[in-house]
Amino acid sequence: MNKREMFRYLDENKDTMASASDMIWDYAETAFEEFRSAELIKGIMRDHGFEIESKFDGMDTAFCATFGNGLPAIGILAEYDALSGMSQAAGSVERRGLQNSGNGHGCGHNLFAGASIGAALAVKEYMTRNNLSGTVKLFGCPGEEGGSGKAFMARAGAFDALDAAFAWHPMAVNAVLDMTMLANYQVLYKFKGVAAHAAAAPDKGRSALDAVELMNVGVNFLREHVIQEARIHYAITDSGGFSPNVVQPSADVLYLIRAPRTPQVEEIYRRVNKIAQGAAMMTETELEIQFVKACANVIPNKTLGGVLHGNLSGLDMPVYSEEELRFAAEIAKTSPGSASSDIERYLKDHAADMRLCLKKLEGKPICDITLPFYPDDPDRMLSGSSDVGDVSWITPTAQVATACYALGTPEHSWQLVSQGRTSIGHKGMVLAAKAISGGIADVLQSPGILDKAKEELTDRLNGERYRSAIPDGVMPRPIGKL
Ligand SMILES: [Zn+2]
Repeated sequence: MNKREMFRYLDENKDTMASASDMIWDYAETAFEEFRSAELIKGIMRDHGFEIESKFDGMDTAFCATFGNGLPAIGILAEYDALSGMSQAAGSVERRGLQNSGNGHGCGHNLFAGASIGAALAVKEYMTRNNLSGTVKLFGCPGEEGGSGKAFMARAGAFDALDAAFAWHPMAVNAVLDMTMLANYQVLYKFKGVAAHAAAAPDKGRSALDAVELMNVGVNFLREHVIQEARIHYAITDSGGFSPNVVQPSADVLYLIRAPRTPQVEEIYRRVNKIAQGAAMMTETELEIQFVKACANVIPNKTLGGVLHGNLSGLDMPVYSEEELRFAAEIAKTSPGSASSDIERYLKDHAADMRLCLKKLEGKPICDITLPFYPDDPDRMLSGSSDVGDVSWITPTAQVATACYALGTPEHSWQLVSQGRTSIGHKGMVLAAKAISGGIADVLQSPGILDKAKEELTDRLNGERYRSAIPDGVMPRPIGKL
């Protein structure tokens, strides 16, 4: 079987990917509660002769599906969690929730799962028909959104025996994600006060909500005195109830602290803790700090990224029907983003390429080109985080993005949910499956690539080793159960 035949296998089996993706879109299960989605994927892999290993570190919805034996051991990562509050009708150019405050696939992880399934099945075919030794492992990685499931799996040693890992993400462009991303900690600050009648006996009350507000004010002052690249966000997850005539006896605030490197996150975290303690002292409330999760910065691997770029740019781009193009143009009108904001995100440090790409995309609602790859630019940064970071510290890791949405579609938006269950999304998904399986076929045929990729990782780590930033005893928690 050559690569062209393997890509034809993917075209012939695109319904397997599309139906899995659509079902996961329908299930729309959030972090660590993706029970039906995980069972669906495990079932498909089992039916194709993969062996299933379930539950890593108590995570019921994490799994590994393995085929083959011997070296090299190649991992493919799959995600399938949705976001809360993002319910949206599929294929609609209007904001229309399917259910009040229901969940929705606002990051396209349904497509993520579909292409990763397809890539694993295609690699199995390729290995079997060409009599190649090696192991392909599809990792079911739950809770990417707010949970960093892969970081917990990494702590449990799930990725230790891999020679390389491949992942992707649905986006509005076709590109190799050869950028680093931010490390982060997520921490819950719980304040306990004393309830009292807010008019009759305010002096008897101690307000936990005041503590949360004071903490947030303190952190807002801190922002001026942290490194430029740091990001600090918060959500008040318990404001102490709905009665203004009660001094609120409890209030919680969830913080997400990001920076390029984990030691920088740690330093800011310690300062945020001091501010929380100060707020508790000022309000005479009690403070409990609960560490929720952490993830590492992404270390891109240029060797494997180059292999993925070679495959992606060599593939025939999807052809879109008039109807698809009309739909994409229509939904793009409702989006706050634009083609130039999408392209700028990737090419901001390469102005000439940015102008060239924008010219090629002029008047097009869907990206049908592959963005350039920069093997000699190690400092490219994509603002955001991914728990792929933890995997990338353990084994050489590369990621690709394919256009699954109209240009200008923001992540975590209703427009993205709407497009995630359309033929446009499916076409991007099949393209991703081809790029990943093509890259893995290259690696299986030329083991020297893996030696080079490992050397590159060793060089970039410069003597450092992966150490999980999640303290012992901290376990994954579904959202809504914080
Ligand atoms: Zn995502």
